[in-house]
Amino acid sequence: MLKDKVAIVTGSTSGIGLAIARELAQEGCHVMLNGFGDATEIEELGHEFQSKFGIKVGYSPADMAKPDQIREMVHQTEKMFGSVDVLVNNAGIQFTAPTENFPAEKWEAILSINLSAAFYAIQTALPGIQKRGWGRIINIASAHGLVASVHKPAYVAAKHGLVGLTKVVALENAQTDVTCNALCPGWVHTPLVQRQIDDRAALEGISVEMATRELLSEKQPSLRFVQPDHLGKMVVFLCSDAGSSITGASLSMDGGWTAQ
Ligand code: NAD
Repeated sequence: MLKDKVAIVTGSTSGIGLAIARELAQEGCHVMLNGFGDATEIEELGHEFQSKFGIKVGYSPADMAKPDQIREMVHQTEKMFGSVDVLVNNAGIQFTAPTENFPAEKWEAILSINLSAAFYAIQTALPGIQKRGWGRIINIASAHGLVASVHKPAYVAAKHGLVGLTKVVALENAQTDVTCNALCPGWVHTPLVQRQIDDRAALEGISVEMATRELLSEKQPSLRFVQPDHLGKMVVFLCSDAGSSITGASLSMDGGWTAQ
């Protein structure tokens, strides 16, 4: 299904996005990588994907806070590979503080990168997708797209917004073979979460192991992290024929977090 299709995965130089890009590449999908990081490491990653999976790899340094750069990333992909068939809006950042102390610039940055970036990428990629009549748009939301936690006003607002945007795009394309879904992971062990574990350990004067146990037991009944490659495999499933009736859905992969 994915052989010679073309995917953009935003924020794919690390964590969940990297795992999703890898799973798509393994299925024969050409990939446009995006995200920040060391130029040599990103280049090596591209070579690794090319040699292991025999696919074409591009890299866009577009900043997801900048609408013009997002549009340019989509156009660059269409020019390089001929199409964008799969769009995974994954790039995201986090910042935590009580609402009354939440810095305005953090609010703006989180809303831009975690929500508006998906709107601009979808808006730019959709005309080509609609013309070709097949596409898969997958927005990486969060358990925080469905329920809230304290001290995350911007993140929770952005992820709830992303779930809403997902439904609208799904409805507007429902009679075609273009689907749009949100994945809502619980805790996944990535640099984004490691920073929250380290902050908790420092604040409470406890070990990183103890802080990790606390973090999981507070929210995630499985007491296990969600595996990044499982998210990648879910993306591949949504791209398959069997996934063609799933649209407008917010799919929880959270070890029971939102069942409580
Ligand atoms: P991560 O920090 O490991 O990776 C984030 C990626 O986004 C990196 O590639 C980074 O370079 C990129 N990025 C950040 N700002 C960017 C910008 N302005 N422009 C372009 N790229 C940018 O984080 P992760 O945990 O892999 O998170 C990926 C997504 O999954 C995020 O949207 C996050 O909210 C979501 N998520 C994560 C978890 C979790 O537990 N880790 C849970 C639910 C949802």
